[in-house]
Amino acid sequence: MDKLAIGIDLGGTNCRFGAVKADGTLVCQQLMPVPKDRSHKGIISFLCSGIEMTKKKAASESSCIGIGAPGIVDYNNGSIVRSPHFRDWHNFELRKNLEAACSLPVALDNDANLVAAGEAWLGAGQDTKNFILITLGTGIGGGICIDGEIFHGDKGFAGEIGHQILFFDGRKCDCGSKGCWETVVSIDGLRQLIADSNDPRKEKFLQKYHRGLDSITPHDLHKEASDGDIFASLIWKKFGAYLGAGIASLVNILGIHTVIIGGGISNAWDFFISAAKKELSKRTYEESFEKIVIKKALLGETAGILGAAGIAFKMKNS
Ligand SMILES: [Zn+2]
Repeated sequence: MDKLAIGIDLGGTNCRFGAVKADGTLVCQQLMPVPKDRSHKGIISFLCSGIEMTKKKAASESSCIGIGAPGIVDYNNGSIVRSPHFRDWHNFELRKNLEAACSLPVALDNDANLVAAGEAWLGAGQDTKNFILITLGTGIGGGICIDGEIFHGDKGFAGEIGHQILFFDGRKCDCGSKGCWETVVSIDGLRQLIADSNDPRKEKFLQKYHRGLDSITPHDLHKEASDGDIFASLIWKKFGAYLGAGIASLVNILGIHTVIIGGGISNAWDFFISAAKKELSKRTYEESFEKIVIKKALLGETAGILGAAGIAFKMKNS
């Protein structure tokens, strides 16, 4: 039997491990909380124990490892330059350290790039060579696929689409800049849209949330809109318009017309997608707009581990 690849999706809170066959079959997966010890040594030993447990669960040896990590990843030398979830990591050579610890070849990329790689291999990107992947959640994750390959730029820093500037003097963003796209198109962004609204229905809406604005989740807002709350629907329309404006810039710059959208917030699809398309039509050439195809991502939370396993197999076979 062919050996498996272990795909790892390392997040700020949880880490997902999956054992994947060369044909893309996910044999097993498990979710483990990231330990408090986030030192280089602590994380390497955590990853090794997760790899061992996954191999045991799959009842098979593995031949390679792929891992997606949040933050700025130097694709060429396999290091994490900077990560919002691991603030002490600067130029951490994750690939080299993990290879030494588990004695297997390791491929490393940015987590959102691997979601795009997963969708390209087994999901919504299978039938197109060029697409932009957008994940909507705490922030905006992005991956750009050109000619069937994830586009990395010079060092691997490409695809940080959430930090394109939408407002010159906008709100401060976690990246250090201000007015980034993800300051409005994200979980916090949705709350900000509520806070900024002058609609008279806002007060009545907020009365339902005694614990304050920060307690409102995209799921709440989705449910409210589904139940017919007009204010909630207005917020989703505004969200959709900002989403569409940002997509328009990407389409205009890249000339890529397939856009795949995933992430938790995309569950409210029916409430924001029309507004996004309307905005896109206003901000792109007519000939370009006609070619735009917006699709839902297909792989959900497994996209990252599948993409990670995919690049591990690719590395091994190259
Ligand atoms: Zn930013």
